[in-house]
Amino acid sequence: MHTKTIACPHCKATVVVQGEPGQTIQLICPQCKTKGVFRFPEEHTTIPQPSGPATLTIQHLDFTYPKSQKKAINNVSFSIHQGEIFGFLGPNGAGKSTTQKVIIGLLKSYQGNIELLGKNLKNWRTDLYEHIGVCFELPNHYQKLTALENLELFASFYRNTTVDPLKLLSMVDLQNDANTRVGAFSKGMKTKLNFARALLNNPQMLFLDEPTTGLDPVSARQIKNIILQKKKEGTTIFLTTHNMNDADELCDRVGFMVDGGLVLIESPKDLKLKHGKKLVRVEYLNNGELRKDEFTLATLGANPTFLSLLNHGQVLTIHTQEATLDDVFIKVTGRHLK
Ligand code: ADP
Ligand code: MG
Repeated sequence: MHTKTIACPHCKATVVVQGEPGQTIQLICPQCKTKGVFRFPEEHTTIPQPSGPATLTIQHLDFTYPKSQKKAINNVSFSIHQGEIFGFLGPNGAGKSTTQKVIIGLLKSYQGNIELLGKNLKNWRTDLYEHIGVCFELPNHYQKLTALENLELFASFYRNTTVDPLKLLSMVDLQNDANTRVGAFSKGMKTKLNFARALLNNPQMLFLDEPTTGLDPVSARQIKNIILQKKKEGTTIFLTTHNMNDADELCDRVGFMVDGGLVLIESPKDLKLKHGKKLVRVEYLNNGELRKDEFTLATLGANPTFLSLLNHGQVLTIHTQEATLDDVFIKVTGRHLK
């Protein structure tokens, strides 16, 4: 709710007006009773315009798996700019992992154009892997080697200087498990090791496919903090996820992927502002019984039920509720994420 003090155009008395952006309020001057209206300006949201150069540009990407009748990726176009975290969101089977695999050069027979780190993907050779870090959806480690041996082995594949594996293990809280065979690791530990491996070569661009899936909240927090730290250091991040909370927290922009197609690209904040209605949830007592109700925030001041609850002192709690990115996804695509 916004409050504005204006002067009555007739008698110059001060009139206080409250409302939401875009709302038109009918007014009566308390002094001279002149009637008028005041319209609160629309809240102008800004889509963060990524400032750095494009790190990845995809134009009209199509991909069909061999022997499949259906396109797994259908005419997908987008750009990611340096230092940006771009979230690629969608339900299972939408084509997210396939897109990541095409971009990192694992699936070759695609149509369309991919420019990655200033070069057409078709012109990159294996030296591409010196510059990017990849975290696959399913961890793939040598089960008989320890965590440290796995990282040392992968580090040996790089020509450029790599990060100390022990430092990476500490970052993901696996320092005490450095000498444990990966075969004895839990699923969550493997996920964290997989993430640490993607950072070995201090990459310019990170591709993270569901990096927090299956992690306990503390470990997920750790991973998210590292992702944010990497962004601060200027790393560009392509984050594939079906976890809307992660996307909401981490991403500068998100793309909604459904059935192989990219439906929209926006910042999480703008999506919620555009598509979500702000609600006020009220808990109150009615004849000694606990009741709950929801009211639209924008019209709260003129809602007789809400005002009556307030005036009769029955209200126990009031919370404002924003639409979640989940709600927006369902509204825009008609599909659930899970
Ligand atoms: P997401 O990562 O969004 O869950 P995927 O990219 O894994 O989706 O899958 C997109 C579509 O491609 C799905 O219909 C899936 O069944 C199909 N697909 C994925 N991998 C293969 C494969 N190796 N061979 C054939 N079809 C596949
Ligand atoms: Mg996937």
